[in-house]
Amino acid sequence: MDFKKLVKFDIKKFSSYKSARSLCVKGNIWLNANESPISYEFSTVNKHLNRYPDSQSKDILYKYSKYSNIDYNNILISRGIDESIELLIKTFCNPFVDKIIYFYPTYDMYKITAEIFGVESIKIFLKNDSLKKYEKIKNNINYIKLIYICRPNNPTGCLMSKKELINILEITFGKALVIVDEAYIEFCILESVVPLIKKYSNLVVLRTLSKAFGLAGIRCGFTLANSEIIKILNKVISPYPIPSITYEIANFALNKSFLNFMEKTVLKLNKNKNWLLKELKKISYVKKIFKSFANYILVEFYDSSFIFKNMNKKGIILRDQSYKKGLKNCIRISVGNKIECKKLIYELKKKIL
Ligand SMILES: *Cc1c(COP(=O)(O)O)cnc(C)c1O
Repeated sequence: MDFKKLVKFDIKKFSSYKSARSLCVKGNIWLNANESPISYEFSTVNKHLNRYPDSQSKDILYKYSKYSNIDYNNILISRGIDESIELLIKTFCNPFVDKIIYFYPTYDMYKITAEIFGVESIKIFLKNDSLKKYEKIKNNINYIKLIYICRPNNPTGCLMSKKELINILEITFGKALVIVDEAYIEFCILESVVPLIKKYSNLVVLRTLSKAFGLAGIRCGFTLANSEIIKILNKVISPYPIPSITYEIANFALNKSFLNFMEKTVLKLNKNKNWLLKELKKISYVKKIFKSFANYILVEFYDSSFIFKNMNKKGIILRDQSYKKGLKNCIRISVGNKIECKKLIYELKKKIL
């Protein structure tokens, strides 16, 4: 039987997200998925798993509320930011009617998720000047339901200015929601826009334990927004989105001692990033280094595919970004621990063009 005939038509032509993990490569230094290189060894005590977990754990909501400085009525727990990206589209966008906007180049999942749900996406180039961006938003405002802004942006590492963001919030107020993906915000925590949620009820902020917290394996994320938006999302989210084990570890990770550990990790990785920046500048076949507010650096080489393959051979796995329009010869390097950073620079310096 030809199952392809059964697939809905917008999925037939669709190319899926290639996660760092799915690109099966062998290596021993993993600098391709922006994960934390520092792992904390957990032990779980919850051995009875015959009951469903709470739909939304009050303990976790309360702790994340304290951590992020917002009321717990303004928080929804989800299976990572990825579920939240999807939930917002499912909740707010009518297929084949409404559209989303995203700023390019960025995290692929905004566009891909929209496509899966039959929602068209409009791309605005990040490098355009502000006025051009506002104009494009204004011109499309009648179709737009959601605007995704990745801040700090993946893969460039740049940060949209607060001024630009506030202008976008004002242009869209009452008409569309502005979703700010703060997956990497712990690396520049003073830049968080969570405090703006009080003033701008159309602002939604996405957070995760996957990056700075070093807990990509438990799949836990948070949506922070006006309490009415949270109520609506709670109607649409699946009944038991978070596994009990995830709750148990998240509960521990939001305690003061683990938060201190996370903050120390951030300091260490930011220090490693500055060291990497300094060393990369010395390498002659590095063409451009992008300024980064997160735990990765986007680097333009003269010949990225050569570098990428060469590093692969040495067991160092980086993330090739050259398939993206405008990012030809660019590779994204996650900041590893000091040994990994040193090894990377050693191998890069050894390579003679
Ligand atoms: C890694 C990443 C995510 C995924 O977050 P999860 O909470 O693990 O689903 C979302 N957005 C951006 C920009 C990311 O880089």
